[in-house]
Amino acid sequence: MTLDTPISKIHKLRKSQREALERLGLRTVRDALLFVPYRYDSFDRITPVNKLRVGEKQAFRVRIASIETRRTRRRGLSLTEAVVEDASGPVRAVWFNQPYLPDMLPPGTEVLLYGKVDYKKSGPQLSSPKFEKLEDDADAKVDGHITPVYSASAGISTRTILAIVRKCLPLVRDIEDTLPEELLERQDLVPLSDALQELHLPTTREALAVARERMAFEELYELQLTALTKRERWRAGGGENITLSPEHEAAFRDALPFSLTGAQERVWSDIQTDLASGTPMYRLLQGDVGAGKTLIAGLALLATAQQGAQAVLMAPTDLLAKQHFVTLKKYLAPFLGEVSIGLFTRTRQSIHNGSQKTLSGDTQDYDCSKAVFLEALADGSVDIIVGTHALIQGVVQFDHLVLAVIDEQHRFGVEQREVLRRAGGTRSPHLLSMTATPIPRTLALAVYADLDVSVLDELPPGRTPIATRIVSPRGAKVAEQFMRQQIDKGRQVFVVCPLIQDSDDESLAQVPSAEETFERLANGLFSDVRLALLHGKLTQEEKDAVMSAFVAGELDAVVSTTVVEVGVDVPNATVMAIYGAERFGLAQLHQLRGRVGRGEHASSCLAFVTRSGRPAERLNVFQSSTDGFELAQKDLEQRGPGELAGVAQSGLPDLRMASLMDTALLARVQEEARSHLLAPMH
Ligand code: ADP
Ligand code: MG
Repeated sequence: MTLDTPISKIHKLRKSQREALERLGLRTVRDALLFVPYRYDSFDRITPVNKLRVGEKQAFRVRIASIETRRTRRRGLSLTEAVVEDASGPVRAVWFNQPYLPDMLPPGTEVLLYGKVDYKKSGPQLSSPKFEKLEDDADAKVDGHITPVYSASAGISTRTILAIVRKCLPLVRDIEDTLPEELLERQDLVPLSDALQELHLPTTREALAVARERMAFEELYELQLTALTKRERWRAGGGENITLSPEHEAAFRDALPFSLTGAQERVWSDIQTDLASGTPMYRLLQGDVGAGKTLIAGLALLATAQQGAQAVLMAPTDLLAKQHFVTLKKYLAPFLGEVSIGLFTRTRQSIHNGSQKTLSGDTQDYDCSKAVFLEALADGSVDIIVGTHALIQGVVQFDHLVLAVIDEQHRFGVEQREVLRRAGGTRSPHLLSMTATPIPRTLALAVYADLDVSVLDELPPGRTPIATRIVSPRGAKVAEQFMRQQIDKGRQVFVVCPLIQDSDDESLAQVPSAEETFERLANGLFSDVRLALLHGKLTQEEKDAVMSAFVAGELDAVVSTTVVEVGVDVPNATVMAIYGAERFGLAQLHQLRGRVGRGEHASSCLAFVTRSGRPAERLNVFQSSTDGFELAQKDLEQRGPGELAGVAQSGLPDLRMASLMDTALLARVQEEARSHLLAPMH
């Protein structure tokens, strides 16, 4: 056996199992050894039954006293009930839909059980505990009883993976280390082979923690290196100096009906410094929905255009691009003779250069063909371009691109950034990425290691706060009547559901789908309301049509999935009704809430919960805080980085090991990565 031996040679596999392993990327012994468990069941701290604590996860070492499976009244479900006991006494344990358990764990079997203790009418009970037989299941048995759990997939169980990995372990010494020895020494990290040995066959909690730290370090280190390399590539070659003339800046500010917030001033000053530094800007602007990012973009775009260079603002959808086009024409109204603005989406190309006039003398846009637009782009007769992905598909030739602003940057891929970089010619353009997805500081260090970060942490004054209410099933009727009243007053309503269609999945049976909710409202309380259904299965054209109609006030309400998340501005919308709210993460709830409260009317967010009783703690947090960063931090703590909106799409690999909340570890990683990149190449 070598590291390259196929797994099928060392462990008998059914075809379905082999296919499942392939799906997990596991073909060889090496693959199996590098397949790190994603969590552990700890059977190592055994609680005597008479010391159990209700509501907590605990491990028990018990003997099965009696066990039997019966069907429940609900079709297709079976319930296995057992009485288990140790020297201190008995306790009940139950499992659902595992009818084979009495055969597997006959009375007399010694087992380790691990799981949460619930309190039922009949007393305390272990609900669906994990189990591990003590006598015969030698493969799964572990000293110290910390059992690795692998992310199994359909067709292969974590137990089988465990058995395979254990067979491969004798070769773990042959795995080459990925980190240089000096680094391991400097950072006091264990070699990879030691770490893997411990991860697959844990001895103690302490040793396991050491192994995981090593893996976390490595994961973050690679991430940092990639990020820093990207950054260096972007910044290589020097950037054009851009300075907004004091006259232009004064004219811009004078035309605004308000003054900049302190945060906007601070961020603008960061950006001015970058633009004039001789090195291409490479900056992320984070700001909660409504914080006023577009205005900042407007200043930077003006600075560039006023100097005779080109600037592009990329938006993720046609609708947002149109919205930006309109907004920028407003912000830049004093300069529209001097500076021209173009819009390039899949369906519309338009240029506003101050020369096209209506009969009444106002300047207006002129729509043109793609070819004409691209010509204007190439000869420099359009200065500021608002575009979608459509703009940078295929060959696109700018005359002199010096600034690229990307809105909702997580919706753009690395390749698209790369296209923009090359469009700058020999020099990279200045890059300003904007996002409304608040990412906690610690996480930002890892996710955006390559970018300088500015934060707009202050909303413009005078916003009426959005009232957030949790709506129980009992209160649903009244809440929907409230929505109806708002519509009668001429306001508009967003309705968001977690699913598109009803699901066959039992666990989702209670969750309201967009289709079902749409039908119910359309046939009931909202029967005479202009109502539309919007979800991700529609084509982009269909989605745009619905959203445009909503923006234009031709619809009173739209029922949708989370496709409404991105920054569409509908000042007349005053209610965000979220059904099945317990199914959303905090950051996402917050994003949704930010769709309303953008106009003069008082707005509310109604979080409908599916089940009665005490709402999830998460929703209470949501109700009590309007701070996106705080909510994102809580989300990170509760659900881990993978679930955090914006992180999943950020290109961040699946960080299974890395404790992203570990700021100290991140700092060490950064230091190593920086010094590695600064070291002379060899
Ligand atoms: P974001 O893109 O950050 O979500 P926008 O740029 O769309 O936010 O701004 C939201 C609204 O706030 C817009 O109507 C904008 O005109 C307004 N706004 C921006 N800056 C200010 C400010 N300093 N004072 C008052 N209103 C502002
Ligand atoms: Mg925006």
